[in-house]
Amino acid sequence: MKRKVLVLGAGIQGCCIALELANRGFKVDLIEQDSVPFNRSSIRNEGKIHLGLVYINDTGFETPKLMLKAALRFAPYLSRWIGIGVKDLNVGTPFYYLVSNQSFLDTEQLEQRYHQLEKLYCKSTEKESFTYLGYKPDKLVQKSSEENLAKHFNTDCLQGGFYTSELAIDTSKLAEHIRKAVKKHSNITFLGNHRILGISKNGSGYIVEGEKNRSNWKKKSLQVVNATWTDKFKLDETLGISPPKEILHRLKYRVIADIPEEMKNFPSATMVIGKFGDVVIRPDKTAYISWYPDACRGWSNSIEPPESWNEPSRGIVPNKDFDEISEQLIRETEKWYPAIRNCTPKIVDAGIIVAHGKTDVDNKKSRLHERSNIGVTSYDGYHSVETGKLTTAPMFAMDTADRAEKIYRQL
Ligand SMILES: Cc1cc2nc3c(=O)[nH]c(=O)nc-3n(C[C@H](O)[C@H](O)[C@H](O)COP(=O)(O)OP(=O)(O)OC[C@H]3O[C@@H](n4cnc5c(N)ncnc54)[C@H](O)[C@@H]3O)c2cc1C
Repeated sequence: MKRKVLVLGAGIQGCCIALELANRGFKVDLIEQDSVPFNRSSIRNEGKIHLGLVYINDTGFETPKLMLKAALRFAPYLSRWIGIGVKDLNVGTPFYYLVSNQSFLDTEQLEQRYHQLEKLYCKSTEKESFTYLGYKPDKLVQKSSEENLAKHFNTDCLQGGFYTSELAIDTSKLAEHIRKAVKKHSNITFLGNHRILGISKNGSGYIVEGEKNRSNWKKKSLQVVNATWTDKFKLDETLGISPPKEILHRLKYRVIADIPEEMKNFPSATMVIGKFGDVVIRPDKTAYISWYPDACRGWSNSIEPPESWNEPSRGIVPNKDFDEISEQLIRETEKWYPAIRNCTPKIVDAGIIVAHGKTDVDNKKSRLHERSNIGVTSYDGYHSVETGKLTTAPMFAMDTADRAEKIYRQL
């Protein structure tokens, strides 16, 4: 009973926490509303393992620092749980960062800040032996010539660009390996189709309650981890923990498309800095495509996302939306990455992004440019995790397991 933890939510965050706790000898009930783990935001995203470049507008530099730290731990920690090499994750080609004519930081300002990040990277790799997705890049960012940019991109929309060492993994491959590891681990019991409705205190422990197929269930434990992402603040509140101000939920769509053979070594690209988009080119001849102004189709400052977002965030998208969204995202993307017009869309789905703020990413002062106030908060044996990014989840999983172990030793 003492060495047991209830982990709520089976996205990347909940699964990594469950696997680390299970490796340390804890018995874990992993409780999830869907029938399989890894079925929501953790699979329906871009898979970029952030080196901090996207968050370079955080003037305090806390977010780039945090992302860099997490990125260097992503693969080493994952290999503890899923025991595979980075090659098994269908890693895409390195990203170009393309500076839009409408970017609110110009190429020179970006270059200065990237240089600051580079220095930080050199310092941290001097001290630590961690690698970035299995290798140690000599440099994170290099300014690109216009001639190089023009090989793949429409330079009329750009004021400049950088070649970077940043990479994205294929989240469907990650899902495959994590699902397998969770299923195989004898210390983990996966409880699918269990919707969690509330948490209450019970002496020195907790009671988690919910419903399954219209019947109520109840589970008790001395320690509980809340890794539900979209329902985190609502469930915290049932335990009396006040939600933060300025919660923001966004529903963002993506397209996965087949690409022709000749594109498979083309670069991945992110346009900065404002309301732009990304392309990831993967070795299995697929591409991730998203264009923020048309892909972000839901915005809510409520404590939980609207019910209508439930279906697209589980991958259920009606045919007419599939056609309309894929056509629009490809049309907008081919304006700056012309080869994208040769893609054939095969998946359209959406994920929910939980953050804090009132204004959008094209506002220089938006809180969306910061993602440093995330991670684990513990209230005795209740640990509530704000994942923040796919990139940070393995690092926060280790932190959560350390906290659970510390509490266990005090019991
Ligand atoms: C389009 C898009 C692109 C993104 N791109 C990137 C990127 O390139 N790089 C990056 O680092 N991050 C990216 N992110 C962010 C990243 O996807 C998330 O930070 C991360 O997946 C969150 O993981 P999680 O496990 O906390 O959440 P989830 O994967 O959503 O897992 C939470 C789990 O809890 C379950 N759950 C929730 N409520 C309940 C309840 N009441 N009862 C039972 N179960 C419940 C859910 O069903 C789900 O399985 C992106 C997000 C989106 C949407």
